[in-house]
Amino acid sequence: MPESSLSPFVELRPGVFRAIAEPEAVTIGLVVGSQGALVVVTGSAIAQGAAIRAAVETVAGVPVIAAVVTHGHWDHVYGLAAFADLPTYGHESVADALRTSPLDLPDDMAVEMESLVAPNRPFSLAKALDLGEQRVELVHFGRGHTAGDVVVIVPGADVIFAGDLLEEANPPSFGPDCHLRDWPAAIDGILGLLGEATLVVPGHGEPGDRVFAFTQRAEISALYGQVEYLIGQGIKEADAYPAGEWPFDEATVRAALPLAYAQLAAQGKVPRTKLTLL
Ligand SMILES: [Zn+2]
Repeated sequence: MPESSLSPFVELRPGVFRAIAEPEAVTIGLVVGSQGALVVVTGSAIAQGAAIRAAVETVAGVPVIAAVVTHGHWDHVYGLAAFADLPTYGHESVADALRTSPLDLPDDMAVEMESLVAPNRPFSLAKALDLGEQRVELVHFGRGHTAGDVVVIVPGADVIFAGDLLEEANPPSFGPDCHLRDWPAAIDGILGLLGEATLVVPGHGEPGDRVFAFTQRAEISALYGQVEYLIGQGIKEADAYPAGEWPFDEATVRAALPLAYAQLAAQGKVPRTKLTLL
């Protein structure tokens, strides 16, 4: 795993920048208006949050006036304390996520849990921010990658930060806190906003377009649908991988299978042995 580091900010569209924070190659966004700047995702440690803040003060040319986190995973939110004197936005469930995290924190990233902070302006559905001639909308389209994914929409620049609802560098991350059934509907919220030229910036990886977002939505939906079909055929979890057709690589599918089986079982959908009637 690479060391903790922060790449330079690169301008994607006028007033919208992106940097990459290691060790998890997380997208850090910066939206600049005439009056202030918004940081999108605060990195994986408090020191990294401070480094992000120092870097954006130079790039933006206006004061940083707020930060937003796209969800409660450590690599996106643990730097939030470096912005605690500003309004910080995120879904209302992020505070819970911080209490139950770390989900898969590397050993050498151990942190003092007491030093972590949740967004001080939590919200349930949507917020609009005015940065001065640059409006930003923060929207929760429902559960997906986590219970509290927030999408950051910059209409004037035609850019959307999707958080980990979409990933480009790797397949989507199916962790124990994801909601497989609801996830495609959350991406539908994004798809409804996309035009020909909209830039879709994933939580990890390179920005993409409408086709990228449509494709990943279809793949996540297909994964869940395939498991539902196999359960209907009486196929147990242990036999599912070789029995199915999958949109992702084997490791990704095998990580998702226990989650999909458990989430479908919670809806009463379990493989039943078919008895031959004589
Ligand atoms: Zn995540």
